[in-house]
Amino acid sequence: MKITNRWKIKKVLQEGKDETDVLVKGWIRTRRDSKGGFSFIEINDGSCLKNLQVVTDHSMDGFEAASKKLHTGSCVGFIGKLVLSPGKEQSVELQANSIEVYGEADPEHYPLQKKHHSFEFLREIAHLRPRTNTFGAVMRVRNRLSYAIHNFFQDEGFVYLHTPIITANDCEGAGEIFQVTTLNPGSPPMLDGCVDYSQDFFGEKTGLTVSGQLEGEVFAMALSEIYTFGPTFRAENSNTSRHLSEFWMVEPEMAFYDLEDDMDLAESFLRYLLKDALENCSEDLEFFNKQIDKTILERHRKIVDNKFERISYSEAVQLLGKSNKKFKYSVKWGSNLQSEHERYISEEVFNNPVIIYDYPEEIKPFYMKINDNGKTVRAMDVLLPKLGEIIGGSQREDDYDVLLKRMKFKKLNSEDYNWYLDLRRFGSAPHSGFGLGFERLVQFVTGVENIRDVIPFPRTPKNARF
Ligand code: ATP
Ligand code: MN
Repeated sequence: MKITNRWKIKKVLQEGKDETDVLVKGWIRTRRDSKGGFSFIEINDGSCLKNLQVVTDHSMDGFEAASKKLHTGSCVGFIGKLVLSPGKEQSVELQANSIEVYGEADPEHYPLQKKHHSFEFLREIAHLRPRTNTFGAVMRVRNRLSYAIHNFFQDEGFVYLHTPIITANDCEGAGEIFQVTTLNPGSPPMLDGCVDYSQDFFGEKTGLTVSGQLEGEVFAMALSEIYTFGPTFRAENSNTSRHLSEFWMVEPEMAFYDLEDDMDLAESFLRYLLKDALENCSEDLEFFNKQIDKTILERHRKIVDNKFERISYSEAVQLLGKSNKKFKYSVKWGSNLQSEHERYISEEVFNNPVIIYDYPEEIKPFYMKINDNGKTVRAMDVLLPKLGEIIGGSQREDDYDVLLKRMKFKKLNSEDYNWYLDLRRFGSAPHSGFGLGFERLVQFVTGVENIRDVIPFPRTPKNARF
């Protein structure tokens, strides 16, 4: 009998019937030998969390030659017959009648031998950690969330926009940019004591994008509603469990939306994504609920069913002032909220997602729309319990004169932003948008504590090799 169509293990476990002949391929997770001349081999191919149990009879053709290569980590293929499984762990198991070994994994050297390895240990072997239950589950959830993000926006009629990765614009004006250059770092061309960037590849100083927002605005002012979903780079030296140097950001930008509309969109977007994950990643989420955080399923269901809290920055400062909790950083009106403050508000005060809006003008970028009081801007942050900030957004300043004044006030060179000012000079419209940190979303959905463990290859200070 020759079978050439491989069945994925997910399909075998969902659709496999008694007596079906199948070919399966995957990596051995465990092997157990019984005295009666059988080996029980569990294989996984990443299509789902569960392994397929394969029963091999030691008298089977080719078993003896293969047997010494059948260890945890080896890659194999089996042809055989499915039989209803006596164990309640799985619906069917495979009774093998032929075997092929594609690649052996020497047990003396293959690092993934134990059932549980620490996240720290796995980070050291980023090229092998996809073969663990946890990392496989994280990546399947990450995949589903990306898909759901596109579904959400496509269903709403948003246009998916690819904004540039190399840019001469600094969106935040915060100087957290990775420079891109082909000049020789040892002896760059100099002019009047400074590096002469007119001789650089692009003829001016360029870097990797910190946000696609400004370019997004250009297209919102023509297509009405767009979103970006791409890599973003920040050279900030924050060694926290919520910051990466390279992360993926989702940035919708919408003409004719004010801050209210922006907050409504952010809220329905997050609720949609959690609902989608609960419906389509139930096996993996149940695994996280068991292994990582016993409250995530309940928390997600609650968020799907309830409205977010909304309070102004001034109210948030009052709440923090009234609290008896000792904070590392004290808060007064005008100061930035630290993550300890954000978590206190979303976790302890409300135990619910919270949107804080109307922030002091001084702590926010130039493009946010100033309120009539002249003191606050139409900014909003969405905070989640256990995580803190997941979304930052605002209504954009759409008045040419006000924007120009704000740029001067923030000491920006308005010459560099002529194209951005043009959007207000020609056919300006009220518009808004926000940025969602994709890895923070994956952290929240899976309950994984450290952001380094929800991206295939994390880039952090002093770490870009694997
Ligand atoms: P934070 O205060 O948490 O450092 P931020 O206010 O600097 O974030 P924004 O510029 O508002 O971040 O970016 C929008 C979103 O992108 C944030 O709400 C967050 O979810 C995500 N984000 C920002 N910086 C990072 C980072 N270094 N790594 C991962 N995600 C990030
Ligand atoms: Mn922010």
